[in-house]
Amino acid sequence: MKILSLKCVNCGAGLEVKPDICDFSCGYCGVQQHVERGGGIVSLRRVEEALDDVKLGTNRTASELAIARLHADIAAIYAQRDSALSALRAADHKNNVFIGWGFIFLVALSMGILGPWGIPVILLGAFFGSRFIKSVAKEVKAVKANAEAKSAPLKAQIVRHQSMIDSYDLGTPVEGNG
Ligand SMILES: [Zn+2]
Repeated sequence: MKILSLKCVNCGAGLEVKPDICDFSCGYCGVQQHVERGGGIVSLRRVEEALDDVKLGTNRTASELAIARLHADIAAIYAQRDSALSALRAADHKNNVFIGWGFIFLVALSMGILGPWGIPVILLGAFFGSRFIKSVAKEVKAVKANAEAKSAPLKAQIVRHQSMIDSYDLGTPVEGNG
């Protein structure tokens, strides 16, 4: 077994580290350090720093999971919105067909009763009737606005988590530093 000669990260004293050791305290200053082995390079780091990295990694994973969950939640909101909209449009279409046939029936009826005077009556009826038809467009707008209102805070959370992840990336220690 090869014993490694490393320097204490705190006081710089020469330390002999056995290959199977992960954590130890400096015999001179007592600072706890963690032995890192990666890519054939062995280095020492303060235990608190190593723990911070684990914590950041955990937070990062939590943020990534949260983002995935938020995306799923938003997708569910939009799916709900789309099914509500298609239900509204289907009902609207049915309504329009009903109104269309009703209109034709009324044209025939009023012209039958009033003759040419039936035309202004029909136009007046169509004018007031159209006010009721527009209410569907309002409902569609309300459904869309509702979906946006529901998803907006979730989108804000995604941005927040993403900025946290980005800040972890900036916090990654540069290899060979120190
Ligand atoms: Zn030391």
